[in-house]
Amino acid sequence: MNIFLPVLYITLGLIGLLLLIMVIRTICNKPKIKIGETPILREDLDKEKIAKHISEAVQIPTISMVEEYKDNTQAFLNYHKWLEKTYPLLHKYAEKTLIADYSLIYHLKGKNAELKPACFLAHQDVVPATDEGWEEGCFSGKITDDDYIYGRGSQDMKGHMIALLEALEHLLAKNQEFERDIYLCFGHDEEPGTSFDGAPNIVKHLLENGVEMEFVIDEGGTMLDGSLLGVPATVALIGACEKGNCDIEISVHKAGGHASNPKRPTAVGLLTEAVSKIEKNPMPTRWTPMAKETFKTLAPYCKPLFKFIFTNRDIMSPALKKLFTVAAPMTNALVRTTFAPTMLWGATARNVIPYDAKANINTRILTGETIDDVVAYLKKLLGKKIDVNVIACTNPTPEADINHQAYKEIVQSINECFENVVVAPYPFIAATDARFYYPLTNNVFRFGPFINSIEDQNRIHGLNERISKNDMEKATQFFIRCLLNTCAKN
Ligand SMILES: [Zn+2]
Repeated sequence: MNIFLPVLYITLGLIGLLLLIMVIRTICNKPKIKIGETPILREDLDKEKIAKHISEAVQIPTISMVEEYKDNTQAFLNYHKWLEKTYPLLHKYAEKTLIADYSLIYHLKGKNAELKPACFLAHQDVVPATDEGWEEGCFSGKITDDDYIYGRGSQDMKGHMIALLEALEHLLAKNQEFERDIYLCFGHDEEPGTSFDGAPNIVKHLLENGVEMEFVIDEGGTMLDGSLLGVPATVALIGACEKGNCDIEISVHKAGGHASNPKRPTAVGLLTEAVSKIEKNPMPTRWTPMAKETFKTLAPYCKPLFKFIFTNRDIMSPALKKLFTVAAPMTNALVRTTFAPTMLWGATARNVIPYDAKANINTRILTGETIDDVVAYLKKLLGKKIDVNVIACTNPTPEADINHQAYKEIVQSINECFENVVVAPYPFIAATDARFYYPLTNNVFRFGPFINSIEDQNRIHGLNERISKNDMEKATQFFIRCLLNTCAKN
């Protein structure tokens, strides 16, 4: 008897059974809450006043004080004065502490000393800009006829900071009292990545004063069109951890000399081969618990095909990981440690073969891996001729507890302010000041209450950065709900 046929039938039967199980799992994966079920809560706010305030804020050019802007101190002092004038109730009720000359802590006392405080972060500094290529002056704060406020920092991240301040000032004007203490911590050097006077010193000061936080919330999460992820709604992503951020220098040392009689291979030749090798051999892909959580949360809300794939992500893991690596740079970054060559150094003259050739590889490390793992990987890949040195590094942060009350209250606040939105936690792939706050709590979340089009997102750190009056008003509504939900309930 031919044994081939029974084996074929059994195999087909098993595949059929597996598919059936996958389909049943998909059908049974129902959303926990209906989109748009939560009532939308709105306070009466003066949209024009908020727009005026964000416009004034961006007119103060608080460019990070590094390199050619290292003397830009006056802008920060002016900004502090402007805050004092614009938010008188905050300055009346909160205790203000200046850290490292330019960073700010505001401490507002709550009624219940038993509760740990809440901590809201923002950074005052912005990246440099010149008027060239801008439709409106880059620090003009121009409010255009189509209701946008133009200026560097309007999105990153004065918009966020002003919305938070507007919300708190609004509540203080209504004599709102809070159960827990509230800290607002505004660093002054988040952007450069080479200066660490702000956030680390704020945290040091808080630790020295015995402060522990219940939770921290910073920029970093986002709201986007869910169709990219197969969700027919807006998706609000709350960053619940952060990748490690390291600069690794790879270098080659080799006899150099005059460029008229080159001896191969040169240091530059070996170095560029090494860079190319790194690009062609990325680190292996892996699902982190938080990335799994993102798709577990989104799956029930997805369109059928996406729902089938995300519901059965464990069974389909190899194919899904492969899909993520090719779909988009962002999805690739969710499932692996990434390497980005950012700087190259060789000779200082055009006709000199350098003795040293170096490249900087900016590396973003996935949760669960460490800088030691990455260095070991690179050394093995590149061999003995290439030196691998870590220049600066923060390892990946721990993952926050998404069953924590504060996380649930942030989700609730989003649902109370934005219609047709699905909220999910996700692993944030860039870096924020929030990474320094882990000595105070593991419950560090990142969320910006702004629905940004891809086009507007591309203006961040770029030309024509702007924010709309409507978005500012909505973000203020969000922070009102967030302050009430997280801090005013006993
Ligand atoms: Zn920022």
